[in-house]
Amino acid sequence: MSARKCLSKVIEVKRLTVDVKEISLKLIDPPALAFKAGQYVAIEVMETRDGHQRLNNRPYSIASPPEEKDVIKLCANLVPGGPGSTFLHSLAVGTEVPFLYPLGFFIVKGHEPTPLLFVATGTGIVPIKSMIIDLLSRGSTRPMMLLWGLRREEDCYYQDEFEALARQHPSFQYDLTLSQASSRWRGLRGRVTEHILDEIPSIENLEAYLCGNMAMIKEVRLLLLEKGLSKKEIHFEKFY
Ligand SMILES: Cc1cc2nc3c(=O)[nH]c(=O)nc-3n(C[C@H](O)[C@H](O)[C@H](O)COP(=O)(O)OP(=O)(O)OC[C@H]3O[C@@H](n4cnc5c(N)ncnc54)[C@H](O)[C@@H]3O)c2cc1C
Repeated sequence: MSARKCLSKVIEVKRLTVDVKEISLKLIDPPALAFKAGQYVAIEVMETRDGHQRLNNRPYSIASPPEEKDVIKLCANLVPGGPGSTFLHSLAVGTEVPFLYPLGFFIVKGHEPTPLLFVATGTGIVPIKSMIIDLLSRGSTRPMMLLWGLRREEDCYYQDEFEALARQHPSFQYDLTLSQASSRWRGLRGRVTEHILDEIPSIENLEAYLCGNMAMIKEVRLLLLEKGLSKKEIHFEKFY
């Protein structure tokens, strides 16, 4: 499927943490979006390179599931001085936002009852959130484990949503680990790589989906390969 141009309008902006915002875009043209959970849109932003201004695309994954066709949610953390994230963070309700969609192949493969392991760092949670909500809302009973790494308590968001999903769906388990937690934190500590092997008692038929920074993806992929998972069972989306 080739990418097509789309026009949308901001209908809600939520500040999730000091540097993460969620933006809801109402589709104008076309009025509904057909995409697969895990795909992304490309937003055109003006950037300055070597003193010259030019338009360039920045990819942003869709946080909402494909069932929600007329409003999509994006979620971005602010990279200081970065044109794409600064543009998204400057958006106000009512602003029209053109983008290209649907893009990307980071989508859930396989079928019931194959177990799924999701590992995210930072906003790498965005496509994974769409995948998990999509699977659960379509009645999947595949065992799903999500391990998400953030830095500090004040960086946490979407926690209530994942905890509610874990309560409602016994097949879904969720763990958050903080690499710079305060002494008050009662959950897991350290980086995702320190917990990954505890989260997967067996790799039999396991499929893994990793999203976030390259260093995490490299390390987790290596650990899973050493544990016996094959390359084709490890899917990843590198944000940076
Ligand atoms: C397929 C895909 C989907 C993506 N989806 C999302 C998404 O849903 N949410 C999101 O926040 N980002 C996402 N990104 C990253 C996003 O496209 C931009 O790279 C990011 O917003 C920075 O762009 P910028 O123009 O603000 O800064 P730039 O000037 O382009 O980047 C400056 C530097 O910031 C670092 N950086 C890039 N992304 C991040 C980040 N997320 N956190 C911390 N440092 C970063 C890199 O080292 C980069 O070199 C995605 C990337 C890809 C490839």
